[in-house]
Amino acid sequence: MQPPLPASSTQYAQQLRQGFRWLRFGPALEAEYRSYCNSNECGRVLWFCVICLLLWGGYSLFDLWRIDAASLDAPQRALLRALHAVRGVVTAMIVVTMVSAQRRARVLVVQTAMVTLGVALSCGAAFAVYVYKRLGVPHETAILVAVMLGLFSPFAISLWTQLTMAVIYVACVGALAWVSPVPEVRSQMLHLGVELALSALVFAFGSYWREHQRREQFLYRGDAHWLAMRDALTGLYNRRMFNHHLNLLMAQARREGQPLALLLLDVDHFKSYNDNYGHQQGDAVLQQVAQVVLASIGRPLDLVARVGGEEFAVLLYGGSAVHAQALGQSLVMGMHQRALPHTASPVAKVVTVSVGGAMLSLQDEPRTLYARADRMLYEAKNGGRDRCCWEETLQA
Ligand code: GH3
Ligand code: MG
Ligand code: MG
Repeated sequence: MQPPLPASSTQYAQQLRQGFRWLRFGPALEAEYRSYCNSNECGRVLWFCVICLLLWGGYSLFDLWRIDAASLDAPQRALLRALHAVRGVVTAMIVVTMVSAQRRARVLVVQTAMVTLGVALSCGAAFAVYVYKRLGVPHETAILVAVMLGLFSPFAISLWTQLTMAVIYVACVGALAWVSPVPEVRSQMLHLGVELALSALVFAFGSYWREHQRREQFLYRGDAHWLAMRDALTGLYNRRMFNHHLNLLMAQARREGQPLALLLLDVDHFKSYNDNYGHQQGDAVLQQVAQVVLASIGRPLDLVARVGGEEFAVLLYGGSAVHAQALGQSLVMGMHQRALPHTASPVAKVVTVSVGGAMLSLQDEPRTLYARADRMLYEAKNGGRDRCCWEETLQA
């Protein structure tokens, strides 16, 4: 029988093991989850608003046509005016949300507009039904349950926010029952309130599992993505990610007229290290090298990757050639400072590295930049190892 795969130790896998019964991750993952959910939310919000506008606007026009204001008494006319005002406010809210989504406003703005629209729409619909009852206009109360379903629709609004909107909605229906001077309307509204509260429970149950599944998928996806981009031994980016990043950074450097440096680092006489100390100890050395290389970069676009067995690459974005050369030299010195014994090395008593570097030139493709840095690495090896070499033009 095959032994089980070792458990992944990424933050995604840890959260999966830990669970998230209350639909919350740790702060960093929660922020990442939200931005993942919101990444293409605007399109869906826009369509939602179009549907709302058609239904809500259509209903308003239908009311204007069918309700004869002249046949109403003064209090009823006041109620109808209030209904028109509410309809205007809700329509304006739909338009505001639509514009914010269409202009791809900040996530917080679109979400706030969506939640405000949810509250406005539900309370507006409840008020419309209340006014119909008071005016004796025929109407469908099932529409209120449909609005409740809308509140629990699969947008990137958390279950807790959906529940808050539902509570406000039911409270609004209850308040309308309470203010109604007509006992029959009051009892009908109370009845509606109970029906809505029950439907909210059912929808919330579905919404809980939907959000739970969505979060779970996010974690599985994040874990798989992280592992696919990393080297298992050192945790650094792997060759695939390096290639991807090299293409991106070369294009960006050209666009913005920024320098880009590539450094290749190779452990000296590593085969004899393995032969002498064993493969496991060799792995530990590679982890130490990874730490030294990783500690050398600091800018957001810089990248370190393990590109071969005992070979590492550093991409430096925006730094001068002088800075890149100094960094190459500091990598060589950094390994000396680690003082990892290597008695089989003819170069030094400790593990050393050789570094070759090249700066991006106008004619370069990813392949040619890599080949130039590799040539410099070869020169560093031929020149006696334990050193950093750059092309002639840069050494002046
Ligand atoms: P040079 O100074 O010319 O680079 O000599 P070298 O011995 O380092 O180079 P060579 O290419 O002959 O050997 C590289 C060695 O790296 C051989 C291989 O066993 C070892 N190696 C590659 N990947 C790993 C790994 O993941 N773990 C360990 N422990 N060793 C590895
Ligand atoms: Mg090598
Ligand atoms: Mg080597």
